[in-house]
Amino acid sequence: MHAIPLYKIFVFLIGINIGSFINVLIIRIPKKMDVIYARSACPYCNHQICWYENIPLLSFIFLKGACSNCKSKISWQYPFVELITGIISILLLPRVFTLISIVDYFFLFTTACVFIIHFFIDIKHKILPNSLNLYLLAIFLFRSIYFYPISYWLTGALVGALFPFIVTSAYYYIKKQEGMGMGDIKLFGILGIHLGPFGIIHNIFLSCFLGSIIGLSLIARKKMNLNNHLAFGPYILVVATFQIFYPDLFNKYISSLLFHM
Ligand SMILES: [Zn+2]
Repeated sequence: MHAIPLYKIFVFLIGINIGSFINVLIIRIPKKMDVIYARSACPYCNHQICWYENIPLLSFIFLKGACSNCKSKISWQYPFVELITGIISILLLPRVFTLISIVDYFFLFTTACVFIIHFFIDIKHKILPNSLNLYLLAIFLFRSIYFYPISYWLTGALVGALFPFIVTSAYYYIKKQEGMGMGDIKLFGILGIHLGPFGIIHNIFLSCFLGSIIGLSLIARKKMNLNNHLAFGPYILVVATFQIFYPDLFNKYISSLLFHM
């Protein structure tokens, strides 16, 4: 058995602490609360959470998943997000450390963090906050200007934003119902910068496909009806996760499955 290198344990410990901060952002961004200075409190009894109740993963275990004051259950989302952020922080580590690979690590890791925050906020509140989209816009733009020709990222952005916008407007004109929110359309446009015109078309088709399968199965199981608004961001993000973090797997299996049938 190989011993786990010490630096990986160190990165994991930083990763679970960032995961803990991600949990704070998921709660506070939609409420427009201060994300740095406000103390954390139990949402049920307002009991202030002290430092030893705030240790990633460990506190959840020794508190047995309940508030120390009122014994209300603590959501599984907290340890889950902490653990998954810790795992991602190790998985993305480059094999060789160069300036480019370290910059790329921060690019990929912060993208993953924003995806996690976006995912949970959209499921809970059906919004994709502008502040998170702006961060993605900034890093995708910087990276794409450096690595790709303007024709790649600009057409990616235009296709990503205009195509869903036209479809949604047509849908609204015909059915007088909002199909897709502006947050989804902005996210498509921003992802288009990084994925390029073909990548973003793959994402649009696959996320709509995934969304309709899951939406229809929820309707069939009477968990929702046709008039419910479905949070669409999570589907876009799941597909984009495969495209950005597993591009070889995505191109080999998923996109060829869709376009060579
Ligand atoms: Zn409590």
